[in-house]
Amino acid sequence: MVYPKEYVNSVTEIDIKLLTKNNIKGLILDVDNTLIDYNQNIPEGIEEWVQILKKQNIKFCILSNSNNEEKIKKVSKKLEMPYLFFAKKPFKTGFIKAKKILDLKEENIGMVGDQVFTDVVGANRMKMVSILVKPIDKKDHLPTKIQRIFEKPVIYQYLKIKERK
Ligand SMILES: [Mg+2]
Repeated sequence: MVYPKEYVNSVTEIDIKLLTKNNIKGLILDVDNTLIDYNQNIPEGIEEWVQILKKQNIKFCILSNSNNEEKIKKVSKKLEMPYLFFAKKPFKTGFIKAKKILDLKEENIGMVGDQVFTDVVGANRMKMVSILVKPIDKKDHLPTKIQRIFEKPVIYQYLKIKERK
């Protein structure tokens, strides 16, 4: 339940090969520390990454727990994809809305995010393909900072299991 299906260093490592392997036709994207850093900048390469995958018919939707609509809207405009904010991940409501927007089955949807207990757990509960990314920034907002303490042993354990396979 807490382990991701895939674990990558950055969203830009998610290429068509990885998506095809997992039968993914659409991606739900977290925003904070997945698409933007602490200062709300989108790192180089992410816009291009989205464009390349769009050309390969991958659909996108933003799903953020942030209640700062302006911030989320700005990212959604820049990357030209729909957005949902204040999503209350890991609860299902937001995921169900995003699934409707993508118009895909859950098994064909990948959820990409940097947090185990919101992004990964939410996706796994929905039977979507969970893809954990390393956070862009070391800096976090306070609630996230606390969660990281509990995430660490989960990720450590996950990597150990993966190594054994
Ligand atoms: Mg995040």
